Amino acid sequence: MKRYQAYTFLTLGTTAIILTVACVDFASSELVELSYTYNVDAPTSPKLNPFNFSVLQKGFNDKGIWVELNEFCSSEHSGTHVDAPVHFSRGSWTIDEIPLDRLWNVPGVVIDVTQAIERSSERNYHIQVKDLEKWEEEHHGYIPDGAVVLIHTGWGKMVKDLQEYSGLDEERSNNFPGLSEEAAIWLATYGQRNGYSKGVVGVGVDTISVDVGNSTLYPVHRALYSHNIYGIENMANLDKLLGRKFELTILPMRIGGGSGAPARIIASVREKQLGHVFVRSASTALPRNFFFLLATTVILREFLKVLTPTLY
Ligand SMILES: [Zn+2]
Repeated sequence: MKRYQAYTFLTLGTTAIILTVACVDFASSELVELSYTYNVDAPTSPKLNPFNFSVLQKGFNDKGIWVELNEFCSSEHSGTHVDAPVHFSRGSWTIDEIPLDRLWNVPGVVIDVTQAIERSSERNYHIQVKDLEKWEEEHHGYIPDGAVVLIHTGWGKMVKDLQEYSGLDEERSNNFPGLSEEAAIWLATYGQRNGYSKGVVGVGVDTISVDVGNSTLYPVHRALYSHNIYGIENMANLDKLLGRKFELTILPMRIGGGSGAPARIIASVREKQLGHVFVRSASTALPRNFFFLLATTVILREFLKVLTPTLY
């Protein structure tokens, strides 16, 4: 009977340890800022009116109360912003019509295409279907249903120099990489091919546009937005998400009938998921978990001593 009790407590103890470790890791997450500060330096296509900010009041008023009050004038499409599907698809969602369950805490994946871009000498490199399939094959399996797919081109490194970032030339044409039409269709029809209910809900880039810089017909805008998939442009810090598991919250300003809007975008990075351990996060979680395990084992041993003295 004593031995039976000991085994019972050992089983309960082990379960407690596993749950403790799982809960600790499950609760831990890191928030990553994916939007640039919205000011006159925020990345914006040189073809649009720049962000205009003026100070109306900054100081003590006649009652001795400190007041700061500013106003701004801005394109819907400057800085880090969301393109509503209606931007290039008549009758599709305006920015205030995008359902909240496609913006709040949605699964995200980031696809790194920097190597393909570096290998190409073409500044307006068209990201190929094979560049996206490579990610599926080599790293993470399938894009989950309802996900936002982020494309990391590495262009964010140039964001402080708008001339370099936009590649604006003498003909007033921008020059930077973007998705090919085939890649956009591949993303837009991903859900259909995999029997998903939502499919891909949004596509984000670390450049000015989801299309290549010198595009004039905007096939990517049209292919995605006609499927009510929204775009996110001028995203920051995509390199911080590479190889990690995360959820995204995308909050564009609720402009009535807007074709787009400046947005705050945040990734919540999971260090570890039940049944899905990432090597990088496991290495950071291990030392902390070791102390939890040690403490739980010591407490368990003391319990067993008291409850099953004949075993000791
Ligand atoms: Zn836009």
